[in-house]
Amino acid sequence: LRSIYGCTVDTESVRSIYRSRSNFSHKGDYGKSFLIGGSLSMCGALLLAVRASLRSGSGYTYAVGPDECRVVLQTAAPEAIFLDKDDFEADQVHQVFGIGPGMGTGAESLALLRHLLQNSCFPVVLDADALNLIGQNRELMELIPPMSILTPHPKEFDRLFGLHASSFARLDTALQIAKKNKIIVVVKGHRTQIVCPDGNIYYNLSGNAALAKAGSGDVLTGVITSLMAQNYDPIQAAVLGVWIHGRSAELVSLTKGIESVVASDIIEGLCLVYSELN
Ligand code: AMP
Ligand code: MG
Repeated sequence: LRSIYGCTVDTESVRSIYRSRSNFSHKGDYGKSFLIGGSLSMCGALLLAVRASLRSGSGYTYAVGPDECRVVLQTAAPEAIFLDKDDFEADQVHQVFGIGPGMGTGAESLALLRHLLQNSCFPVVLDADALNLIGQNRELMELIPPMSILTPHPKEFDRLFGLHASSFARLDTALQIAKKNKIIVVVKGHRTQIVCPDGNIYYNLSGNAALAKAGSGDVLTGVITSLMAQNYDPIQAAVLGVWIHGRSAELVSLTKGIESVVASDIIEGLCLVYSELN
């Protein structure tokens, strides 16, 4: 039997990672978070990731998507900067990227993903259709920059790594992949596990079934990308991001009720989590 080592992520461990902001700081101190995704019928997924990033502290948040998403993004997230993905400069590879929410799996998305994987100067956050594209084009797996973060839900996980009979089996595969490819695999669900290249596994203790709704994962991608932009190292960003996301769900559920909470409420709830941490 393979032994699995790990530790739990709770309020105390999160406090040891979290860094409060200096009053003398300015937006240039907190990095730029680039969220890439969206398509005609799924501008909302990109919007959720962008709004979550805006609420998570990065100095600037950029939305990179197709022109169909421009008006939606600029209306619903006026603090973000919109870049048309066709005008997106190929040399903007020295930024922190979260890629995938609502992106679609067409040829253009594949080309953009391949370009970023090959050229990104930093680890990237890969979610949703970015993961589905990697599942369809297995050679991309080897292009993923070291310490990048993959955030699959169980179905995406199985599309990437083959059918698994249980969450224990997924954890075992995640551990092997994390070590071999030097990446962080966030195995999402109740009690999300953050599986690291050094073999460590962090078990998140926050979160509830209010998150069992479309859009929740897009919010997580925005939070983690924003933390990476602020220079949290990728393991810290994944651990802190997953915990904050779950804690937000707990706090908003107190007043809205688990059934009624929607992904936008999880974004609003980030304010409550950050005021608890401050
Ligand atoms: P996605 O399926 O990509 O929208 O991601 C769903 C997000 O919500 C992940 O971060 C999951 O860990 C979280 N989530 C879903 N269901 C639950 C649950 N029952 N308890 C805690 N977290 C959940
Ligand atoms: Mg998702």
